[in-house]
Amino acid sequence: LNSKPVIKTDLAGQTLVTLRTLSEDNSAALATYEKLGGYAQLKRLVTEKVKAPDIISQVKVSNLRGRGGAGFPTGLKWSFMPRYYDGTKYLVCNTDEGEPGTFKDRDIIRYNPHQLIEGMAIAAYTLGARVGYNYIHGEIWQDYEIFEAALAEAREAGYLGENLFGTEFSFDLYAVHGYGAYICGEETALIESIEGKKGQPRFKPPFPASYGVFGKPTNVNNTESYASIPWIMQHGGQAFADLGVPNSGGSKLFSVSGHVEKPGNYEIKMGTPFKDLLTMAGGVWKGRKLKAVIPGGPSTAVMPASAIENATMDYDGLSKAGSSLGAGSMIVMDETTCMVKTLKRLSYFFYEESCGQCTPCREGTGWVYRIIERIVDGKGKMEDLDLLTDLSNNISGRTICALGDAAATPVLSFIKHFRPEFEYYIQHGKSMVDGK
Ligand code: NAD
Ligand code: SF4
Repeated sequence: LNSKPVIKTDLAGQTLVTLRTLSEDNSAALATYEKLGGYAQLKRLVTEKVKAPDIISQVKVSNLRGRGGAGFPTGLKWSFMPRYYDGTKYLVCNTDEGEPGTFKDRDIIRYNPHQLIEGMAIAAYTLGARVGYNYIHGEIWQDYEIFEAALAEAREAGYLGENLFGTEFSFDLYAVHGYGAYICGEETALIESIEGKKGQPRFKPPFPASYGVFGKPTNVNNTESYASIPWIMQHGGQAFADLGVPNSGGSKLFSVSGHVEKPGNYEIKMGTPFKDLLTMAGGVWKGRKLKAVIPGGPSTAVMPASAIENATMDYDGLSKAGSSLGAGSMIVMDETTCMVKTLKRLSYFFYEESCGQCTPCREGTGWVYRIIERIVDGKGKMEDLDLLTDLSNNISGRTICALGDAAATPVLSFIKHFRPEFEYYIQHGKSMVDGK
């Protein structure tokens, strides 16, 4: 398996955990991963018959929190899986990142797929899962093929399949190519999709740990979460926790996009100041001023420059500053950005991607989008701003899945922080920022 050589100078200042092979040529190859100690932890845990509670306790100590966006403690989630179960248990990896600005998980499967496979195999051994699926977003092809090739290498080398390392532990792992729908990244819609059904979320509870794939106990984690596990097993949970800050263990991949000189993925310690991350990404492009940042993907609240400038990039740091970490998908906007037009773009995304199951989301996202479109077309009314706020508050918390809340967040936060821009647009029929 060959991947293109990587530009090593881009790695300055990063703390590579999930992308640790990036410092090597052919970073995705099995031989590269093995050279760096890859699969040694899986072999150790399985052949030494390390007990599941001991592994789970290390994951708990590590303070690893779910990297898909919700930040649920991974060790706690693992402890929800029934230990004794008379039937097949499943393991699922969610590589269906689909929110605008999210592009970190694809880099893990593109540049370091074996670390994900090892992390999943360790999780399967710990939780007693016999079969695993990695559900990969339907709009990425090359990465899917790289992951398939890595799976073939791992099977050939005896890291996947029957009776691994001559023990009773067997684990089969498959890649599933998704269908490109954002909603299939919601864990229960993803499970429905794996089962061959239309990807629509289920009511929770029951959570997947008790009712998952084919109604069986299933552990679902994000790609970056699983890929952190081999490092935690090698260095210990405390070492991972110590990389970060209290309540946010480890290092974290941040996908930086928008108006920066060097957009891309940056794996940095939790608790790193926002300013340092922005500097790493080359600063705001063209020498312009920072206007606003969406720190964790559009389902996290937009922050004006003054709110984020002194924030740190971790769960508590961003929450104190008025937003959240989400999946770490940071969208940077410079002073020339029209917030009204930006909100129109984001609202269209949620309207387009609603699965249509619940009325507040199906009808509300379309209604919200049409009002913002009307404002951008110069036909807005001042009372539209209160209507947008009211509508969003009535979507949020009243739907089956988090897409409803996600759709409401940009509307509420854009109007809260940039209300004068919306008022100007309604009064003058054009943007305060670009005059058009
Ligand atoms: P959630 O808080 O409902 O659940 C998080 C995880 O914890 C789930 O796996 C859930 O099964 C588990 N969990 C929570 N409570 C539990 C309990 N009592 N018992 C057992 N398990 C429990 O969040 P969610 O709806 O899964 O995800 C929403 C998040 O996804 C948002 O915060 C958003 O940031 C993120 N998101 C990410 C992307 C992306 O592209 N990466 C896209 C959309 C949303
Ligand atoms: Fe579907 Fe929206 Fe309801 Fe989620 S909130 S189940 S996306 S209609």
